[in-house]
Amino acid sequence: MRNYEEILATKIDQKLKSVVCNKCGKTSEVTWNEHDHEYWGHEDMHHVDVTFEEEDNKYRSKCWLFDLCDECLVGFVKTFKHAPDWFRGNYGHSTQRIFEEWVSNGCKSYDRF
Ligand SMILES: [Zn+2]
Repeated sequence: MRNYEEILATKIDQKLKSVVCNKCGKTSEVTWNEHDHEYWGHEDMHHVDVTFEEEDNKYRSKCWLFDLCDECLVGFVKTFKHAPDWFRGNYGHSTQRIFEEWVSNGCKSYDRF
C-alpha cells in the first residue's frame, strides 16, 4: 500500500504560437481551438520529420525536424525527377506524365486535373 500526500506542483508546458518556414522564414500565427483540440492557422505549413535509421547511413541516428510553407514545398517537389506518389490524386503510369506537364507549365493550374 502506498500513501500519497497532495502537493502543489508547477509544470512548465509549451504552447505553439507560430510556425516558421525553415527555408524562407514565412511565419503563420496559430491559435488553439478548444472545441477541436487542435491548432488552427498553419494550414499552409508542412512539418517534415526525417530520421536516419539505417546502420550504414552517414547520418545514422540523426533526426531532422523542420517546417516548409506551401511555396517552398512546391519549389522542392518541382525539382523531382519522378512524381510523388498520388500526385494530384493519381497513381500509376499517368502520374509521371501529369507531373511533368505541371512542372513544364510552371507548376500552375493545379486544380485543372
Ligand atoms: Zn517557405
